[in-house]
Amino acid sequence: MIYLDGNSLGPPVRDAGARLQRFATDEWGTHLIGGWDRDGWISAGARLGRLIAPWVGAADDEVIVCDSTTINLHKLLHAALRLRPTRRVVLAAADDFPTDMYVVDAVAELCGCTVRRADAHSWRGIDLSDVAVGVLSHVHYRTGQLHDLAELTADLHAQGALALWDLSHSVGAVPIALDAADVDLAVGCTYKFLNGGPGAPAFAYVARGLQAATTTPIVGWLGHADPFAMAHRYRPAAGVERLVTGTPSVIGQIALEHALAAIGDVDVAHVRQKAMALGELFTDLVDQELPGVFTLHSPRQPTQRGGHIALGHPDGYAIIQALIARGVVGDFRAPDVLRFGFASMYLSFTQVFDAAMILSEVMRSGAYEDFRSAQRGRVT
Ligand SMILES: *Cc1c(COP(=O)(O)O)cnc(C)c1O
Repeated sequence: MIYLDGNSLGPPVRDAGARLQRFATDEWGTHLIGGWDRDGWISAGARLGRLIAPWVGAADDEVIVCDSTTINLHKLLHAALRLRPTRRVVLAAADDFPTDMYVVDAVAELCGCTVRRADAHSWRGIDLSDVAVGVLSHVHYRTGQLHDLAELTADLHAQGALALWDLSHSVGAVPIALDAADVDLAVGCTYKFLNGGPGAPAFAYVARGLQAATTTPIVGWLGHADPFAMAHRYRPAAGVERLVTGTPSVIGQIALEHALAAIGDVDVAHVRQKAMALGELFTDLVDQELPGVFTLHSPRQPTQRGGHIALGHPDGYAIIQALIARGVVGDFRAPDVLRFGFASMYLSFTQVFDAAMILSEVMRSGAYEDFRSAQRGRVT
């Protein structure tokens, strides 16, 4: 298989199965409830946060792993609006990942705020005097457009607004420097380029200076300062740990920790450099083999896109199915986008070359036409 979908779900690291087996037999199966302390389950969220920190340019105590990206976005957007109580507008992109669109609308409504939507490239020109927070995906899930995180954060700050970034499509693919850019809040996903496994727990980042004033709308006992005091009144944990809600899925945390340990020595600058070269090889070959067949929905410049490339074609779904039947796995996003991810930690130039040649064959032969009426899965 040539796997060009690591931007959507990364593969397991080689011995992930053995690690999960060990968890089931030696930890859970042998220690039972003792595993919370003995096997360190109780501190896994904070420990994982420290492992994510270098991938996002944060300090050890600024990242916590918990819940899903969607839930963390709910929490941090709500927190941002409470940190800027005199401002009643959320600035968001006109087109972003569905969860981000829905959460922005829902949290704004819940807080009695309004949403202003505008493409990020036009954020510079607008008056932000009533904006509490700007929310944006670092890399656009469909087009792969990479936004200038430092520049947009500085623009928001210049007018007194906070910056909340969704790093789901950039973490593990693109160097990120949250502290250096003075970012306030961020969330992100660990099952894409970080290979944590389907539904792996997500992360949340809160700049150290904001932590003491940060509140969460979804409180729970494990975000309490002293969970086993079993107190009747909520008192938040000191730092980012206050964002923890309830008991996490330990099996998910274990799989993620194992993946992060396996890629711990990898330099994201090298990941990025090779991924840009892989992407360029692919687009060059598509141009050469199939001129005019696809519309490039991603920026042409490798430095302006994240870890994946989007090609437009009205038969996108059928083409992706024909490729999958030939062992080349990409994905389709409605209405017409074929996405190909270049997760360079495990993809070779030869594989990308072969994938482009197989795409060329599928298009020239018209073989994809057989898949036009294929029954669509729930996941495309
Ligand atoms: C993948 C992704 C998510 C996923 O959210 P879940 O809560 O894990 O389903 C959210 N936002 C963006 C931008 C994504 O790319």
